[in-house]
Amino acid sequence: MLHINIKTREEKIKNIHPYINHPIDVLNVLVNEAKIDDIEILVAGILHDTIEDTQTTYEELKELFGENIANIVLEVTDDKSLPKHIRKEKQITNAKYKSYKAKIIKIADKICNLRDIMNSPPENWSIERKKEYFFWAKKVIDEIRGTHSILENTFDKEYEKINHNDLVN
Ligand code: ZN
Repeated sequence: MLHINIKTREEKIKNIHPYINHPIDVLNVLVNEAKIDDIEILVAGILHDTIEDTQTTYEELKELFGENIANIVLEVTDDKSLPKHIRKEKQITNAKYKSYKAKIIKIADKICNLRDIMNSPPENWSIERKKEYFFWAKKVIDEIRGTHSILENTFDKEYEKINHNDLVN
């Protein structure tokens, strides 16, 4: 049984929309923008936040979708037992050790997060906080450049918007 609950958590940018929008956005980037047709990447892309943000377990994913997909999801899952600043730091330092498929999902995820912050930012986020997220996301992506040029260019285009005052609202 796969428990994908829609319980939202405060201050998570992915939860400013109905929860299901985010995995669909990531899938959309992978299929329509990056032209990726690797089924493991696509399925793991839809599921990428399930272990981190829902009660879904690695074992459940493995049973339902197979070990490869479960492993990719696990690779892009933060260890929630760690304090937030450590998790953020670890994303930067560990990014380069991830598999190709996990890296692809990471870039697509960050693209969607930047777009969400740009288009419908969480109400209580200051400009500084938005910028901080952008800077951090770029640090993660800078660690894995050379993975997928379309995705990296798309990320850079979204990132550039920070320099055009689009974050002021
Ligand atoms: Zn995500």
